[in-house]
Parts: sequence; C-alpha cells; structure tokens
Amino acid sequence: MSNGTPSQTALRKMSAVSASDIDTWAVPCSALVVDDDSFVRTNLCRLLAYLGVERIESAADGAAARELLRTHGPFEIMTCDLQMPGADGVELLRGIAALQPNLKVVLISSMEPKILASIGELAIAQRVKLIGSLHKPVHLAALRQVLQKNGPALAKDRDRAGDAEIEAEELKQAIAAGEIDVYVQPQLDARTHELVGVEALARWISPRRGVVAPDRFIPLAESSGLIDELTTLICEQAMRACADWRQQGLYTHVAINFSMQSLVQLDLPDRIARMSSDFGLDPTQVVIEITESAAMVKVAGTLDVLSRLCLRKFKLSLDDFGTGFSSLSQLRRIPFGELKIDRSFVAGADEASSARAIIESSVQLAHSLDMKVVAEGIETQANWDTACALGCDVVQGYWIARPMPKSELVAWVARTLSA
Ligand code: C2E
Ligand code: CA
Ligand code: CA
Repeated sequence: MSNGTPSQTALRKMSAVSASDIDTWAVPCSALVVDDDSFVRTNLCRLLAYLGVERIESAADGAAARELLRTHGPFEIMTCDLQMPGADGVELLRGIAALQPNLKVVLISSMEPKILASIGELAIAQRVKLIGSLHKPVHLAALRQVLQKNGPALAKDRDRAGDAEIEAEELKQAIAAGEIDVYVQPQLDARTHELVGVEALARWISPRRGVVAPDRFIPLAESSGLIDELTTLICEQAMRACADWRQQGLYTHVAINFSMQSLVQLDLPDRIARMSSDFGLDPTQVVIEITESAAMVKVAGTLDVLSRLCLRKFKLSLDDFGTGFSSLSQLRRIPFGELKIDRSFVAGADEASSARAIIESSVQLAHSLDMKVVAEGIETQANWDTACALGCDVVQGYWIARPMPKSELVAWVARTLSA
C-alpha cells in the first residue's frame, strides 16, 4: 500500500465536526451496529468512529447481535435495523431488556415514519431504552444529534458502573482474562502527510465498566507491581500488530509508552530485542516513549537501560516535553531520537506567544541535537499549520485521527491517505 498525500476531501470531512466540539458531550464508548446490509453497516461504523466511539462491533442479523451482546457486552448503544432476514429487529428488541437492561437503542429503517413510531412504542412497552429513530440513509448530523441529546444519560450510567474504584485484584484478573487491548493513533509527516508511525495506547475493554482509559489503570498497575506484566503484554500486541500491517502491505513504526519503573530492569533491552526479532521487526521500527518528568527525575538508574536500548537501535522518544524539568545537559546524557511537545503548548500556540516561543525553542534545541519533533494534540487545521510553521516534523492528534482499534489502521490509511 502506498502512503501518498491524504485526500483533501477526507481531511476537509474531518474538520466538519471539530474534536473540541465532540469533547463537550459524552460520546458513547461502545456501540453495536446491527444491519444486514454491509454497506449500511460499514457506513454506520465509520460515522460512530468519527464521532469518537472507541469500541464498535457489528452484526448482520438478530441472532449474531444477541451472541455479541452475550460474549462482548455490555455495549452502551446499539443501532438496530428493523428489516433483516432471520431474526429481525423487532424480534431482537423483544429480548434485549433481559440481556442488557441499560443498552440504549437507536432504530434505523427505511420504513414510513408512522410504522417506525409504532414499533418504537412497542419497544418502549418492552422496556427497551429507545433513544431515537433514524431514517436511512443515516447522516452524520442526525446521528450526532441523537447521541448528543442522550449524552447526559450516558454519562450518568457510566458514572454508576465505570467510575467505581478499581482494585488491583480486578486489574490483575483483567490482564489474565486478556481484556487489555492496544489502540493506535496515526502520526503523519507534517509536510508530506505520509504515515510515519503510530502510537500504541492501552485500553481496558471491561465487560462491566466499558472502555477504561489508561489514566485510570496505569498508575494503579505501577503502584501494585503489575506494570511489567502489562507493559510486556502491550509490547507484544503492538509488535504483533506491526508485523500484521506489514503482511497487509503497510510498513510503519510503532511507538510504545514505557513506565519509568520498567526502565530500571536491566534485562529489558534483551527482552525487547528478542521480542521484536521474534515478530520479524527491525528495531528501528520500535519507538520507546518515556515521559519527560519521570525520565529526568530518575535519570541515573535508567541510563544503563536507555543507552543499551539505543545501542540495539531502538528509537527513544521524550514524551510530554515542556512539562518537566529538563535542561540541555540532561538531554545530552540520554540519547533521545525524538521529542514530543506536550499538547498544552500545541493547543495554546495559535494564540499565546509564550506557547509559540516554547515550541520554537524546543524545535531549535531538538534539531541541533539531531532529534525529530512531534507535535501532539493537533485538534484543528490551525494547530497543524502552526506546528508546521514552527518547524515540527511530525503531527498527531484528534484532527488527524482518534486512537482506533489496531485492526482498523490499514483501512484508515487506504481511506484517508491514499486518495
Ligand atoms: P500520552 O502518552 O501523552 O498519550 C497521548 C494521549 O493524548 C492519549 O490519551 C491520546 O488519546 C490523547 N490524544 C491524542 N490526540 C489528542 C488530541 O488531539 N486532543 C486531546 N485532548 N487528546 C489527544 P490516552 O490514550 O488516554 O493516554 C493517556 C496517557 O496514558 C498517555 O499519555 C500515556 O502517558 C499513558 N499510557 C497510555 N498507554 C500506555 C501504556 O501502554 N503504557 C504506559 N506506561 N502508559 C500508557
Ligand atoms: Ca506517549
Ligand atoms: Ca504525550
């Protein structure tokens, strides 16, 4: 697959709904799309992903949907086609309240509004939590309106189940049960728009809590001694995905976040080298991201491991740059190949001259040390233009793509970058 210039139409489409706009309401974390028409199914999955829904499964009929609810549930919302061969939508709705009482349903149909309304009433009588009915073909604005209207109810449900305190034991079981998954977020060359790599971001797909963000379980993993097991698992998934993409014709780099605690393990360079060679990856394809504040505070204990990772040709990346306490001499001690400017500066750079000055001097510093600069948190075209004007080499952020399941990367590249 070639990574050409991104289609301008695709990028323009992205800007139709700005990321900050989406962030102001509670986007569902998970959705089940049920429709026998594969075109409609794919379109709905794309629209939901575009609106920021992170976990999306789809089924072609009622029986498959029920199976997914049993094995991959709970989902926060379900879009349900009414006319399907075999178990149709009405049949599916009949048992839904018993299967998953909190599931919010959006009916999708090309039937007359009157029939749609009476089926809606029937569903409500069966205690289905119906949140809207949409006529085919479904447009982004209409779908967004339905989800946005129900944002507060979604947030309330999520608070009840998802926000309960996480205990180390529950996390341990989740790791053992294979519930930790890796999502990936593309990084593009700021000028040529080519894909240069992806960042692997951990997600916990919990049957009880929904999709749990890493900020909620990485610190717990660190404090409860689970972080090494978790990091190993994430490395394996990220490297396997990288090898799979290669098989599908997409050669790219993968960046993995490392906790400082893992970097005091003296055997880490050997383990990572073995793992990457097992997956047939070149070490230069693997980027190791370390948070600046942590890297600088405990620099002495990790210098050994970081230098040896570097000797083995892995690329080191200094994350969240600008938020910690770095100095030029410290930067020189660790052989970083890349610096990621924290998104707070990127967001502020359009207006604030201080943020611009920080980016400008970071770029100067990085380039003089032969390091590349990644601008994180690109949320608008203006952010991208500013990052580019200030000399950043690589851009990453919601405006380009939200983190997505790793199985979706190849299709995303084909759709967005190859036109
Ligand atoms: P990070 O390494 O700075 O990762 C970037 C975070 O910014 C991700 O949040 C990403 O989803 C989010 N992001 C990307 N683009 C945008 C944007 O345009 N706007 C905004 N507002 N946010 C954007 P996420 O996935 O929730 O991860 C949070 C943090 O958790 C990460 O920050 C990283 O420090 C940590 N983390 C994630 N995965 C792992 C992991 O596998 N291991 C370790 N040790 N830490 C991880
Ligand atoms: Ca990172
Ligand atoms: Ca970062």
